[in-house]
Amino acid sequence: MKRIFILAAACLVAASASAQSIYTQDKNNVDMLRPTASHEVLRSEFVLPQVNGYKVLKSDLHAHTIYSDGNVTPEYRVREAWVDGLDVLAITEHIEYRPSEGKMISYLKGFFPGEPNKPNGNILTDLNVSNNLAIAAAAGYGITLIPGAEITRDQNKIGHYNALFVKDVNTIYDPDPAVSMKKAREQGALIMHNHPGWIRKNVDIIEFEEKVYGEGLIDGIEIMNGSEFYPPIVTRAFEKNFFMAANTDIHGTTTMDYVQQGHRRNMTFILAKDNSLESIKEALKARRTLAYSFGTLAGEEQLIKDFFMACVKFETFKVDANGKRTMRMINNTSMNFVLRFGGNPVELRPFTSRNVSVAKDAELSFTVENLWIPGEGKEAKHPVIKLKF
Ligand SMILES: [Zn+2]
Ligand SMILES: [Zn+2]
Repeated sequence: MKRIFILAAACLVAASASAQSIYTQDKNNVDMLRPTASHEVLRSEFVLPQVNGYKVLKSDLHAHTIYSDGNVTPEYRVREAWVDGLDVLAITEHIEYRPSEGKMISYLKGFFPGEPNKPNGNILTDLNVSNNLAIAAAAGYGITLIPGAEITRDQNKIGHYNALFVKDVNTIYDPDPAVSMKKAREQGALIMHNHPGWIRKNVDIIEFEEKVYGEGLIDGIEIMNGSEFYPPIVTRAFEKNFFMAANTDIHGTTTMDYVQQGHRRNMTFILAKDNSLESIKEALKARRTLAYSFGTLAGEEQLIKDFFMACVKFETFKVDANGKRTMRMINNTSMNFVLRFGGNPVELRPFTSRNVSVAKDAELSFTVENLWIPGEGKEAKHPVIKLKF
């Protein structure tokens, strides 16, 4: 009898183990139902539709780790990206600024008593380590990792530029930042102009930017970086034909900088055929991106309208005797939209619908106030959606 009991208990344990942490055991070997007692991480999905036949990949093209001045490892950065619902992550360490490195080297000196020059003489920093660790980690999560590097010079005179899709970070540095960019491009990299307004008085184009823009060295630009948003850059990106990006430039954790405050992290939406490096690069070259940050979305006018119309469906459910049509506007996505039909703005929140009416043969017209498109001069503006049913 005792034997049978033990066998039954063993079966129970096996069953609970296969139920993946739903049950835990106390020290008396009693199973307790504790569904929340798990360290398994869950992914927060950000649901978006296909747009113009393309997948909308959620990416962050700017992130740091301990291998430059970030606080976490590349492996943590990848896991965090997965948890945040990203499909694509670029690791972009500062090439010229690596504060942890110096601390480690002076520590190593102590290991070779009597031979003070040996460690320094033998140490050659490998600037590809961070990308390589992240690539290996990303494979375990199905995330596409773009190897990158940040060319980091005086922000007021030169600026910061991310080289994306690099092959060897060790060979990019040159005292002349434009030469650094050219070296990166020779590896097949795309260059993104980072945080153009950060710590500057304004976002006017400076001499160096004029030069590298003119030489065709720039492919993309950050409209948003962290909590900063530069509306005039929406128009500049359109005029110069740069892809528009919204990135975190995360150094700490997205939990502290975004999630704890109730926000999603910044994302560059990339409209790509699939999540291969090749397709992502093709999409960036074709400028099929939208910049998402703190509920605000920026992009080229037609693309952002196509995105809106893919997110929001209109279903007529009543036409009265006068031909007045009443429709349900359905938003089955994670996007929030702020609509203005003339009066006060109203929200079309994620996974909700609202009803709208339009008179016979009239146009339904409204602006989407959390979307930004290129305007005149330095101004950005909101798109106007006009629909005829
Ligand atoms: Zn920077
Ligand atoms: Zn950065």
